[in-house]
Amino acid sequence: MLGKMMDQPLLISTLIAHSARYHGTTEVVSVETTGAVERSNWATLDANARRLASALEALGQEPEARCATIAWNNRRHMEIYFGVAGAGLVCHTINPRLHPDQLIFIVNHAEDKVLFFDSTFLPAVAKLKAHFKTVEHFVLMGPRDDEASKILDGLVFYDELLETGDASYAWPQFEETRASSLCYTSGTTGNPKGVLYSHRSTLLHTLAGNQPDGLAISAKDTVLPVVPMFHVNAWGVPYMAAANGAKLVLPGPGLDGDSLVKLIDGERVTLALGVPTIWMGLLAALEKTGSKAESLVRTVVGGSALPPSMIPAFRDTYGVELIHAWGMTETSPLGTLNQLLQHHQDLPDDEKAAIRLGQGRPPYGVELRLVDDAGKALPQDGETQGELQIRGHWIVDTYFKADKSALNRDGWFDTGDVVTIDANGYMVIRDRAKDIIKSGGEWISTVELENIAIGHPAVANAAAIAAQHVKWDERPVLVVLRAEGADVSEEELRAFYDGKVASWQVPDKVVFVEALPLGGTGKVIKAKLREEYGNILLQEEDA
Ligand code: ADP
Repeated sequence: MLGKMMDQPLLISTLIAHSARYHGTTEVVSVETTGAVERSNWATLDANARRLASALEALGQEPEARCATIAWNNRRHMEIYFGVAGAGLVCHTINPRLHPDQLIFIVNHAEDKVLFFDSTFLPAVAKLKAHFKTVEHFVLMGPRDDEASKILDGLVFYDELLETGDASYAWPQFEETRASSLCYTSGTTGNPKGVLYSHRSTLLHTLAGNQPDGLAISAKDTVLPVVPMFHVNAWGVPYMAAANGAKLVLPGPGLDGDSLVKLIDGERVTLALGVPTIWMGLLAALEKTGSKAESLVRTVVGGSALPPSMIPAFRDTYGVELIHAWGMTETSPLGTLNQLLQHHQDLPDDEKAAIRLGQGRPPYGVELRLVDDAGKALPQDGETQGELQIRGHWIVDTYFKADKSALNRDGWFDTGDVVTIDANGYMVIRDRAKDIIKSGGEWISTVELENIAIGHPAVANAAAIAAQHVKWDERPVLVVLRAEGADVSEEELRAFYDGKVASWQVPDKVVFVEALPLGGTGKVIKAKLREEYGNILLQEEDA
């Protein structure tokens, strides 16, 4: 016997329709590529998304057509998110900082038909245009610009395209399992792989990821997603903000600490989300400007490991709670979030911080397990390290255009992360399997070495890598970016590890650099560092 309740498909268009209807006048603030701050609201976004959807149909775009974006977090990008998916097309967000060869690969692999981009990326797009074999329409996200037309033949202007659309376009109804958006993994090994989200997976991620112990975005919040909209759908924030009618602040291209302080104070931001490198920049800017970020209540940190010094830095000086989260492109991305349980409430601050340093527990809708190389379950005792596997409603099954499923025989997805899980289900990432240092059969966590280094006041950022070693196969080398104006020697830094790790885990060498290579999503590209310094211990041996 079936239940006798309404059966409505879980569609992305319902999110924006809801925010327009019940939170229509709530502001969406957008820093434009020009630097100008533009104020709009959910009702306008919905009307524009409908205009865009109808205009794309008029251009002949059929269901499932991929429409790509190379863009900052801004109002037009939001309209594309909802307009494209709402019409039954697929919104393909592209990381602008990819190598041109990867950009070409991705656009052709996705068979993008329309390419929307911000003016920042006009020169790059114009240069690569001939390689984009399937793209029929190049759309500059802004008003008419005659200078730009001279750079790219046949350029379409977003604002003019919208004028051809219909604000009363009715969102079409279709199966919730249809594809809504596409995001490629960064492809540090081999070609990038496409993860094709569905309306259903997105809606379930939106609803379950935003529970009180999740991101907990509400209509009372002013939310600043610093995490780019090309980094796994800005962690789902655009959808959660729409579902709950939060005020949204979109930072455009200004992701440096000073610009963020201005936005946080100017717009009274209560919740901000981004990778640790962003928060390092923010902390430095707060100190410099003397701002106390008074409106800010919490920040969500994810994408790479949270340095331990960050929790007290935000807590003690600014009264800001840090929420650590873990996820991947393949997991939409929310896999875990770190919130305390009832029995933790009376613990001292430092003990709470120690628990919250880990990546946390899964929300309803996903499950985790810990296994060894052979796939056998390992004890969840907080000590035993193993591979993390995951399954759930918003986890990849098969990569876009792949012949076979990405899951193992019993239906779990292997994350490639080496973790521990404790009896309460708190997961801690010890390393990525491909980064971990294998020294004479023992494993050394690069994350642990980095956390210690970043705790040194003269270190702005650090990355530990495996360097080849004649006797031990691999040994740790620490690559360090000094804090502005600070000085520290290799000997001092190596001595800083005394008593913090076993002596055989102390980096063999410290290399000082002017900048660490950061990928488009703000993570240190360790593969590049390994290329550069992976042989440094062998060379010294030879010398
Ligand atoms: P990429 O890092 O290759 O660009 P993703 O954004 O999908 O692609 O990254 C997912 C990976 O990032 C995870 O498998 C994990 O190794 C790492 N990661 C994500 N969040 C965290 C976190 N909070 N702490 C440590 N590592 C994290």
